[in-house]
Amino acid sequence: LRPLPALPDRPADADPLGVLGVPGQINLDHAASAPCARAAADAVAELLPWYASVHRGAGALSRRCTLAYERARQTVGDFLGARADDHVIFTRNTTDAVNLLARALPAGTTVVTFAGEHHANLLPWPRGSVRLPVPESPAAAVRALDAALGELRRVDAGNEPAPRSAAPATNPARPGPPVLVAVTGASNVTGERWPVAELARVAHRHSARILVDAAQLAPHAPVDLAALDVDYLALSGHKLYAPFGAGVLVGRSDWLDAAPPYLAGGGATGHVGAATHDVRWTTGPARHEAGTPNLLGAVALAAVCAALTEADRDALHAREQRLLARLREGLAALPHVVELRTFAPEAPRVGIVSFVVAGRDSAEVAAHLATAHQIGVRDGLFCAHPLARRLLAEAAARSGRRDLPPTALRASIGLGSTAEEVDRLVAALAAVG
Ligand code: PMP
Repeated sequence: LRPLPALPDRPADADPLGVLGVPGQINLDHAASAPCARAAADAVAELLPWYASVHRGAGALSRRCTLAYERARQTVGDFLGARADDHVIFTRNTTDAVNLLARALPAGTTVVTFAGEHHANLLPWPRGSVRLPVPESPAAAVRALDAALGELRRVDAGNEPAPRSAAPATNPARPGPPVLVAVTGASNVTGERWPVAELARVAHRHSARILVDAAQLAPHAPVDLAALDVDYLALSGHKLYAPFGAGVLVGRSDWLDAAPPYLAGGGATGHVGAATHDVRWTTGPARHEAGTPNLLGAVALAAVCAALTEADRDALHAREQRLLARLREGLAALPHVVELRTFAPEAPRVGIVSFVVAGRDSAEVAAHLATAHQIGVRDGLFCAHPLARRLLAEAAARSGRRDLPPTALRASIGLGSTAEEVDRLVAALAAVG
């Protein structure tokens, strides 16, 4: 690897979490996994000597670990604006959280999504789910959802009495089985933000519930379930400056308490008898957390949530938006680079940009950035194949270029990213043309 001139120190205001990193390596791949915050590493280091089982021991170490785990649940719930009757369930990541909710749906639930979702919010849903086309604007998304839910209600109303669900829908007056709307808060491909509060309002007007996949939104902006009036939220700790292995599903307790346990096993039971099926499952988060829990993951995630609560998130957001504008302006000035986007260029976004280099294979460009410039970005279709393919076709049509590659590149910024890093990426791409 060619040695590079040293980067200037990170300005203190860039990164109140003190994210860890490797000097000389430019990480512009926060959307895949963000670096670990010092607060998370410290919380883990502090607890390690106390390492003992959670919910399963009477010793002082075990009691402290149980307390730390339940405090972590409280901290994460508070950070996300959980309501008193919400459950905060620790999962492995967003994929796990969405799959958990998919298994907890009352019988006959129809799920409505958009084709622009990450696979984690497309594939877990049952057959018969409705997948709406990618809308051309946030307002069009709201209109499309309104129309689709209205249509579902008309169909339900015309049917025979609906199967009784295991738990009541949000509004029991709604005819027919429950409906869940599942949308992202911010796209992992374009960074574009979805109008979550408006979509929630529409969903509730039609007596549907709404899940927000906050994997990409939560690292960039405060997310408050109660304020947004969102029913369920899923996120991954490893995109929120915590280590791998802990995520969360937060939301309404009734469906979750009525559903079969996500995993069957120890910790999820109230009573187990001698007969094969003599089991009473517990209610509460433990119902879906069978097996010894990931204490360190939960505590690390909670430490980040606490640190972000203390941070000036408006200032962080403003700084990120300045860097994002710098990156997009830099890319727009390169005639051989075409950005991928769903909405108009000025639509609100988090610090994620996907693009292609005309005439160049995206995997080769990514490898070149890594080896010649120590810049880490992602290439591919970003686990959102329907959306990425559509946006690649749209980019070809918009740019009039016939030499765009079949996969894309993605640069994503986060805490600690600097203008110097952004400029290095743009300069490296300029030289690739
Ligand atoms: N949703 C979105 C919007 C994502 O960006 C990702 C990760 N790329 C996921 C869900 C899945 O997250 P995980 O791999 O941590 O389960």
